[in-house]
Amino acid sequence: MMTPEKEAFIGSLHDDGVTDPRVLDVMARIPRERFVEPQLAHRAYDNLPLPIACEQTISQPSVVGRMTQELALDSRMKVLEVGAGSGYQTAILASLCRRVYALERHATLAEQARSRLAALDITNVILTHGDGSEGWPLHAPFDRILVAAAAEDPPRPLLDQLKVGGIMILPIGEEGSIQQLIKVTRGVKEFTYHELISVRFVPLLHGFR
Ligand code: SAH
Repeated sequence: MMTPEKEAFIGSLHDDGVTDPRVLDVMARIPRERFVEPQLAHRAYDNLPLPIACEQTISQPSVVGRMTQELALDSRMKVLEVGAGSGYQTAILASLCRRVYALERHATLAEQARSRLAALDITNVILTHGDGSEGWPLHAPFDRILVAAAAEDPPRPLLDQLKVGGIMILPIGEEGSIQQLIKVTRGVKEFTYHELISVRFVPLLHGFR
């Protein structure tokens, strides 16, 4: 049984184009309140981004849902996530694929995200403090790549680390201006690009802290 609050949450995701029942089911189960500061827990099921530590944000749930849906995940897939932040998107991905390799450039956030995932018994995630703009060559290639911070162009290392037939979802555009969420599909010979929706993400920065 879903609480009225959860029902309204799922309804607002659906209204915003998150229609894949598997994605909605996972988002109804993952407790978003565990991924925000305790004083913001009462707003966890508003369809809004919220501030987290290190001046970053937990993404808007409908955007998390759309990105997840566009990845068309299955239980055999290996996924790279760049910009794990709170770990909320990581938890959702982990529920729909074989393993998530997640990178976060803020050590504090990486540490918090790891302990939240462990507390929820989510064990198919390897989450490390590091610069995801270079991808993760050790574990490449990936079936899917999700980037949660905006670059001006798709980073070359990430394109290189995507399998043939693979999909990458990432926001493209400058900080503070309108960005587009892009779906990149790798074919045998070329990459194809589709614009999905307008979004607003923090910038993808190089190096880590
Ligand atoms: N989906 C996450 C989004 C967090 S915001 C959530 O809902 O919590 C994006 C995150 O990307 C921030 O935590 C930021 O620190 C991180 N980030 C930015 N550039 C990065 C990089 N080059 N490598 C890894 N993480 C990066």
